[in-house]
Amino acid sequence: MIRFEQVSVTYDDAAAPALQGVDLTVPEGELCLLVGPSGVGKSTLLGTVSGLVPHFTGGTLHGRVTVAGRDTRAHRPRELADVVGTVGQDPLAHFVTDTVEDELAYGMESLGLAPDVMRRRVEETLDLLGLATLRDRPIATLSGGQQQRVAIGSVLTTHPEVLVLDEPTSALDPGAAEEVLAVLQRLVHDLGTTVLLAEHRLERVVQYADQVILLPAPGAAPVVGDPAEIMAV
Ligand code: ADP
Ligand code: ADP
Repeated sequence: MIRFEQVSVTYDDAAAPALQGVDLTVPEGELCLLVGPSGVGKSTLLGTVSGLVPHFTGGTLHGRVTVAGRDTRAHRPRELADVVGTVGQDPLAHFVTDTVEDELAYGMESLGLAPDVMRRRVEETLDLLGLATLRDRPIATLSGGQQQRVAIGSVLTTHPEVLVLDEPTSALDPGAAEEVLAVLQRLVHDLGTTVLLAEHRLERVVQYADQVILLPAPGAAPVVGDPAEIMAV
């Protein structure tokens, strides 16, 4: 579960806060879609979950964000790796190794897991994401949808309770986008992972969502509902 309590974020030299007084709960084991026009604060809200805000992107955070009971501000993003996994829009920006298998293993390195646990988790994740036949492939030779699945896999090996994705399909064609969204839906249903996904194109993702959070305008209170209710707004 993710809880936002009176969350406001102001960036230096900005006239108005990027987020103001946000109170929200993202239930455990649901795929929650965060939608709203560009510049409304979606990335900022995701950043408060992963700890990027305020530790890396700057900004002043008021209020409290907790993930599985942990206050994200009290930890560096790396210390939250076993709680929150983060995936951005460009999978290539995410990668630090050359092959699929190395990339899946890399995410666990800071956790101090035993080698046999790490090996088991790599196998489990290759199977879960349908990547087993690609394990030795250089990531650069994969399709966009495959690369995005590897990026998701590399954070899943830490067994995060929450997966946060910022426009993960924006660089993908519709077929590859469906491939990625279907994988996310499976994680929610089979593993009980909580997924928070920001997207400005509602139509592309709404059918996969359990709950939708709409940020209608900068500084405005979020509107929360099931997909049908939000489509009617
Ligand atoms: P969205 O993801 O919905 O497009 P953002 O969270 O990226 O919205 O941006 C919300 C507002 O905060 C915008 O006005 C943007 O220019 C500003 N902003 C975002 N990140 C920063 C930053 N690191 N420094 C200063 N201003 C920022
Ligand atoms: P270990 O924690 O030693 O790696 P396993 O790999 O057997 O042990 O996984 C422990 C449990 O975690 C299993 O019940 C498995 O279903 C579950 N699990 C597998 N993948 C994930 C994941 N990505 N997030 C959360 N739990 C997961």
